Amino acid sequence: MPRRFVSGVAAAALLFAAGAAAAQDFSAQRLSDEIRIISADDFQGRYPGTEGEKKTLDWLQAQYEAMGLEPGGPNGQWLQVIDLKRYTPVADAAKASWSGADGQVHALTAGTDILLRAVSNDGQAAIANAGVVFVGYGITAPERGWDDYGDLDVTGKIVLVLGGEPDGDLFNGPYATTYQSGSYKADEAKRRGAVGIITASRSLSTDMSWTRTAQSNSRTRTLTPGAADLEFSGAINADVLKTMGVDVLELAKRAETGDFRAFVLPGMTLSVETAETTDTLRTHNLLAKIPGTKRPNETIIYSAHWDHVGVNEHAAGDDKIFNGAWDNASGTVGVLEMARQLKAAPTPDRTIVFAHMAAEEMGLLGAYAYAADPVYPLETTVADINIDMLPLSGPTRDVPIFGKGQNSLEDDLQALAEKEGRYVSDDGQPEQGFYYRSDHFPFARAGVPALMPWHGVDWVDGGREAGLAAWKAKFGADYHQPSDEWSADWDLRSAVENLTLLYRLGLQLANSDEWPTWKPTSEFGQVRATSDAARR
Ligand SMILES: [Zn+2]
Repeated sequence: MPRRFVSGVAAAALLFAAGAAAAQDFSAQRLSDEIRIISADDFQGRYPGTEGEKKTLDWLQAQYEAMGLEPGGPNGQWLQVIDLKRYTPVADAAKASWSGADGQVHALTAGTDILLRAVSNDGQAAIANAGVVFVGYGITAPERGWDDYGDLDVTGKIVLVLGGEPDGDLFNGPYATTYQSGSYKADEAKRRGAVGIITASRSLSTDMSWTRTAQSNSRTRTLTPGAADLEFSGAINADVLKTMGVDVLELAKRAETGDFRAFVLPGMTLSVETAETTDTLRTHNLLAKIPGTKRPNETIIYSAHWDHVGVNEHAAGDDKIFNGAWDNASGTVGVLEMARQLKAAPTPDRTIVFAHMAAEEMGLLGAYAYAADPVYPLETTVADINIDMLPLSGPTRDVPIFGKGQNSLEDDLQALAEKEGRYVSDDGQPEQGFYYRSDHFPFARAGVPALMPWHGVDWVDGGREAGLAAWKAKFGADYHQPSDEWSADWDLRSAVENLTLLYRLGLQLANSDEWPTWKPTSEFGQVRATSDAARR
């Protein structure tokens, strides 16, 4: 097992030895000036594949070239090309039927009884008479002693699965785990040889939740790079399941308990077919690097998404441009200025990469594309430190992070924060599911210890109540609105504070030979453990 990262006195000695005396000096003015540039109207909200993308990436590349950094993308390039595949259902192509133990075939009406998508590589699905297995929540979580599949072989079968995850502390209480996500369930089903996955909805056919889902089912969807290549995915409502002899509420009750095991629905088979047309959206990640002097194959990544949601002619009001100054011109510039500061420090032992990810707003797609085709091997990637939206306030005592309790990076950050009289806390908003909503997550999912700091609300001047109220007001007013625009009045002191901490964290990692680790209760330790040998 890798050792824990050293902190405290030992880390201080290490920093001194590495000559980090060249102190970092982040400039609030420079941050502000640069945010203003890439969130201006002529960047058109930085939507992937548009002129706004080109302007953003050209500007970033010019900054890195002026700093003297090296291209960090594949084959000595600045850019990593990403072809995002989009799927649109062919009208009336979806068909389905089922049969029970008596062999009688019953047609299902696609679009109302059953929802089907073939959002996988070829966009085609044709499955005849496949057996159906009910797999509960479809979760295999050895670190929690949870195993829905047991020994049941689902090769060639369709799995019927519940959405969400069991309630209770075992699954992080009010904070969601990765196991509640559809993509986790699809991956696990695919890994076990299933051909398709169907969510057993607890909704009735007349429920708003079902009719809304049905309406949105024909929308164009973009494939998450690296996603499970199942033939199809879908959903069936509770009424239809009942006619098939399946009582979803009764099954859900059974699946809540740790001794539930998957079982074959006796005699049941399902046939489905559907088809989608596909097209491609080309976008790019931009990467720059500072190669390490001693162990260049070990990598610390600072990431931030450069994209935002573009222009929407249907937006209410006169302003149609979603400038994304806070989200995420601020984080983009944070990573750029991180590079400027680290370039000024003595060159570290390990390589540091500055990764500007594409298409985060479309579902973390640039970071997923990177994780599916990494430029630097994931097993020797030490950590990902992600910046999405810099804090905009005066100094804060707290340094909230997403996913507290996941890995040892938070302990390293705590040790650094303590020296400044600050403390690391959780994000305090479990209902937001923040851990799954930015580019650190595809790294975590691939086993790379990842950290995402958030905005402090415990103001040095004014305290927590004032800080939280101000944050909520700002987030409520501007998050994903055309009003998310640069202002000369932004207070970037807390941004400078956080960037300084993240600089120290990254530099400490870059001059260490230690590997951050996942905590035993984290769902991401298993995948990291499969590559332990690469880090010995
Ligand atoms: Zn963002």
